[in-house]
Amino acid sequence: MMVNLPAIEGGSPVRREMLPYGQQWIEEDDIRSVVEVLKSDYLTTGPRINEFEARFAEYVGARYAVAVANGTAALHAAAFAAGIGPGVEVITTPITFAASANCVLYMGGKPIFADIKDSDWNIDPHEIEGKLNSRTKAIIPVHFTGLPADLDEVHQIAREHNLVVIEDAAHALGASYKGQRIGGLSQMTIFSFHPVKHITTGEGGMITTNDVNLYHRLMQFRSHGITRDGERLVRDEGPWYYEMQFEGYNYRLTDVQAALGLSQLAKADRFLERRREIVARYIEAFTDMPEISLQVREDDRESGWHLFIIRLNTERLKVDRRRVFEALRAENIGANVHYIPVYLHPYYGDLGYPGGLCPRAEELYSEMITLPLFPKMAERDVDDVIEAVGKVMAYYRRQ
Ligand SMILES: *Cc1c(COP(=O)(O)O)cnc(C)c1O
Repeated sequence: MMVNLPAIEGGSPVRREMLPYGQQWIEEDDIRSVVEVLKSDYLTTGPRINEFEARFAEYVGARYAVAVANGTAALHAAAFAAGIGPGVEVITTPITFAASANCVLYMGGKPIFADIKDSDWNIDPHEIEGKLNSRTKAIIPVHFTGLPADLDEVHQIAREHNLVVIEDAAHALGASYKGQRIGGLSQMTIFSFHPVKHITTGEGGMITTNDVNLYHRLMQFRSHGITRDGERLVRDEGPWYYEMQFEGYNYRLTDVQAALGLSQLAKADRFLERRREIVARYIEAFTDMPEISLQVREDDRESGWHLFIIRLNTERLKVDRRRVFEALRAENIGANVHYIPVYLHPYYGDLGYPGGLCPRAEELYSEMITLPLFPKMAERDVDDVIEAVGKVMAYYRRQ
């Protein structure tokens, strides 16, 4: 029996309105916390920032946290604090948002892309080893979809070659590796509070570290490279005096945002639990579907479940990813693709990065589709996604 697909045959879609792939969840108490700050003395760099940083550090198990304007600013600050500069190479994965590599460009360094593993789609430590040379200064592993990368292997390489590890944990708030929360395991870890991420401040980001020197550098980078800390001033001209000691930026988060962040952080576990419930239903529905493969997860780590991605077994389908993607959109399922391998973007092409650099990443890119996943999704939304995927697969299945 043929199922009608609206994109093809004018049938009726599984749902009437588009279900986005990700979305914030703002409740009345979040709104009250924000309004309270609006009525207070400080709109920026007030008490809420310190409180948000302290609670966040505690939540992820790090000594220090520095709140910044967004996740990209967090990466920029971390790249600065790690000493990235001209003549320096930093190894990262191509299957990530452009910002993970762009932060290296901001500092005048060169991003080097190491291919992913076919199993968990995270950076392959063997590929990292193949890219090392005397210019390598840092590794930026990205916990893709929220699933922690092979941190033991990455740390081992970093120790042997004296490299800084900056974890891009924009997908991985609440995730854990061998029983420890992501956030306190490397020199620096960055997070994002964009509305599609686990918790939101509108725009916002955080860097966590256990190293007091990195902490000071990050704090200073966030505010123009300026310090007022008496112990760290080169001169002292009086009580008004402050010093700009290096080129920094205005990457501060506001107190208004920090209030929202605090209120959201208190719900992080609840949000993550809901993400897990939805994912459990997806896994149950898709595990035995021959047209689909899922990310392989080792038992020693827990995902933060930012994204749920299906990989199409294209030899079992009559059409390619594009057609499946369009069919899901026609069902009003807000399918997405994460990510275009960074070096395939025209800007990176112009910098001299050739196509074919990371074949496994490129193959994955051509076969994957992100399905909706966010804590506010209703059971009915989850049903719709499962139904739509089943409908589209049945329609395009190779007999
Ligand atoms: C969202 C994201 C960022 C950037 O965060 P912004 O807050 O949007 O600047 C960086 N890396 C990854 C992997 C992301 O998903």
